[in-house]
Amino acid sequence: EVLTNQIAAGEVIERPASVVKELVENALDAGGNQIDIIVEEAGLRRIQVIDNGAGIPAAEVTTAFKRHATSKITSREDLFKVRSLGFRGEALPSIASVSDMTLESSTGAEIGEYVHYRGGKLIEQKHSAVRQGTTVSVKDLFFNTPARLKYVKSPQTELANIGDIVNRLALSHPQVAFSLIHEGNVILKTSGSGGLQRTIAGIYGVGNARKMLEISAKDLDFQLTGFVSLPELTRSSRRYLTVLINGRYIKNYQLNKAIIAGYGSKLMVGRYPIVVLAIKMDPILVDVNVHPAKQEVRLSKEDELSQLIQKTIYARLSQENL
Ligand code: ADP
Ligand code: MG
Repeated sequence: EVLTNQIAAGEVIERPASVVKELVENALDAGGNQIDIIVEEAGLRRIQVIDNGAGIPAAEVTTAFKRHATSKITSREDLFKVRSLGFRGEALPSIASVSDMTLESSTGAEIGEYVHYRGGKLIEQKHSAVRQGTTVSVKDLFFNTPARLKYVKSPQTELANIGDIVNRLALSHPQVAFSLIHEGNVILKTSGSGGLQRTIAGIYGVGNARKMLEISAKDLDFQLTGFVSLPELTRSSRRYLTVLINGRYIKNYQLNKAIIAGYGSKLMVGRYPIVVLAIKMDPILVDVNVHPAKQEVRLSKEDELSQLIQKTIYARLSQENL
């Protein structure tokens, strides 16, 4: 069982940022409105995620660490139809198998439960305080899988990856207050109120948020909303392009290309705008790549959507006489 979990961890948990992603997605699924993430040594020493969500009933805490124990859905066919981000029941056992991990949770209605796993083995279990929500701590990631540890990049790169994923999760949940703290420094803080624009300000800075234009458009199949930066506000990396489909952050090469095409010649070569684009569509149009961790998706009607994106951004910039 521990070995199977380590193998699964190899697929799902590639680096500290993968742990952050899985834990924050669980916190989001639990439905609270505040998520605090505390990181040390770019996540290799410690990752802690604290939420004020529904919590796990005491009797179910160890079950949550069993493989394929998900309380969420039954079919993996179309995860865009389900509201929850998790659906495989693999994250907790996978992470526990390659780290020193504690979880403390309470539903607020009964006494809480605390568990401590090391290398996938339960080494301590006890009652804990009544405070609605869940705190998960992951220490010494990959301590027992040296091959994986060797594959981890520099602390700066790993921290950038963590920042990236938290940014994207925060942008897709403007109603949740996020904080990310690394070695005592606040890397990110969003208010959880005031909508997407306020969240953008929290992430990219108030001054930059002022240099972003609101867009909205729709056709028979798609509805677009979001913000695009003025051509003067650009970056040298695609990291600042965030595309959300039905509230979920995705990666799609062609849609990124359509965004950039919308800027036409206004954009210098090698520069990218800051964009947050929220797309709503019938889930039936989304093909989810079945890889357990990758966020690439394929879309039917990708050309139609690309054209709508390009046209909408072009028109919005033209409206500003840009
Ligand atoms: P999945 O998210 O795919 O269901 P996980 O291994 O990530 O699988 O989590 C297993 C189960 O543990 C979840 O289905 C959920 O019931 C519970 N759980 C994990 N983290 C939290 C949390 N922060 N708050 C409430 N429940 C949680
Ligand atoms: Mg999960």
